[in-house]
Amino acid sequence: MLFENYQSPWLDEELKILQDAAQRFYQKEFVPLNEKWIEQGIVDRDAWLKAGEAGLLCAEIPTEYGGGGGDYRHETVIMEEMLRAGVSGFGNQVHSSIVVPYIFHYGNEEQKQRWLPKMASGEMVGAIAMTEPNTGSDLQNIRSTAIRDGDDYVINGAKTYISNGQHADLVIVVVKTDPTEGAKGISLIVVETEGNPGFERGRNLKKMGQKSADTSELFFADCRIPVTNRLGDEEGKGFYQLMQQLPQERLSIAQSAVVSMERAIEITLEFVKDRKVFGRRVLDFQNTKFKLAECKTEALIARTFVDQCLIKHLDKELDATTASMAKYWCTQKQCEIVDECLQLHGGAGYMDEYEISRLYTDARVQKIYGGTNEIMKELIGRTLG
Ligand SMILES: Cc1cc2nc3c(=O)[nH]c(=O)nc-3n(C[C@H](O)[C@H](O)[C@H](O)COP(=O)(O)OP(=O)(O)OC[C@H]3O[C@@H](n4cnc5c(N)ncnc54)[C@H](O)[C@@H]3O)c2cc1C
Repeated sequence: MLFENYQSPWLDEELKILQDAAQRFYQKEFVPLNEKWIEQGIVDRDAWLKAGEAGLLCAEIPTEYGGGGGDYRHETVIMEEMLRAGVSGFGNQVHSSIVVPYIFHYGNEEQKQRWLPKMASGEMVGAIAMTEPNTGSDLQNIRSTAIRDGDDYVINGAKTYISNGQHADLVIVVVKTDPTEGAKGISLIVVETEGNPGFERGRNLKKMGQKSADTSELFFADCRIPVTNRLGDEEGKGFYQLMQQLPQERLSIAQSAVVSMERAIEITLEFVKDRKVFGRRVLDFQNTKFKLAECKTEALIARTFVDQCLIKHLDKELDATTASMAKYWCTQKQCEIVDECLQLHGGAGYMDEYEISRLYTDARVQKIYGGTNEIMKELIGRTLG
């Protein structure tokens, strides 16, 4: 245990049992396949079915929809254990903690019954498509449109960098139902991908890290979707829905950043205790102790901050600004700490066979997706008056 005198206050006995079960599942089912998944740039499709069978998908969704009947703490435990096992490419964070909540909160009863049980079993993999080749941060200016034609919408546009894009059976597509409007023209429409001639997957993009996570271009050309697939009672609610759900996405990124910091420090401690230079353990140099003391202190500050955010989130009190602070600060610290830890490995740190190398390349994107850290500071800055 990295922190001798700190345990997350929300982690009770029931969650520790889930933690053990998840850990055993990942070690048995995912870890042996991780290298293969990294090589092929995508996890095997049946990983989703296995995770569904083990109860690791949609943990916070009520059991009547096939979910685990838990809350956001259960999602947290399942995500954290996967990252501790060194598996960074299985997109359950996007599926269960980002996509599913949109359906749960904004879907009508028929939509929930139709999609949630299959998402909980892994029969359907979820993705959310906001970003476009020309528009990322400036979401209000997306160009993809969904124009009403009778009982259908006709979707046209291109999306890019979409996590789970290759496997996705269900994509929440962020579109303009009124292209003359900005935020007020945005709606969220669920596209079921199977057998839809207007939907096409582009490349599975090659990335510097998180290599087993598929990240794709998606194309929509006169893609017809029933109006009944829109989330929400009326058009134009999409931007509001996104703003409501982004704090959970940002908290989840912050939490994953903390696991990465903790893991980096743990494996670096093992390395510097073992490695001898000039007849001494690397840990015995004052520089090493000071660096790791700084890292451990900052990781504990980050851990206590995200734990506090989680507790607020459970009480529905996590505001957008605090979530932005957590996302920005934790991912910034993650990159700094992982870099310091890699340095203490010397040349070994640059080799893929050492976990720290993977933690380093996996970390970089954390400052970019979920809203860049510059956008986080912009949002925090707006509260300064
Ligand atoms: C691995 C990966 C997975 C992703 N998964 C998804 C996904 O599942 N779904 C999805 O929709 N998107 C996804 N994204 C996209 C991601 O959310 C965007 O890349 C991100 O929001 C930034 O948008 P952009 O790339 O268009 O950069 P831009 O918006 O073009 O930004 C370029 C630079 O300008 C800066 N900038 C922009 N506006 C301002 C401002 N107002 N003030 C100061 N600086 C500013 C940015 O911070 C950045 O440094 C993913 C991206 C990656 C890399």
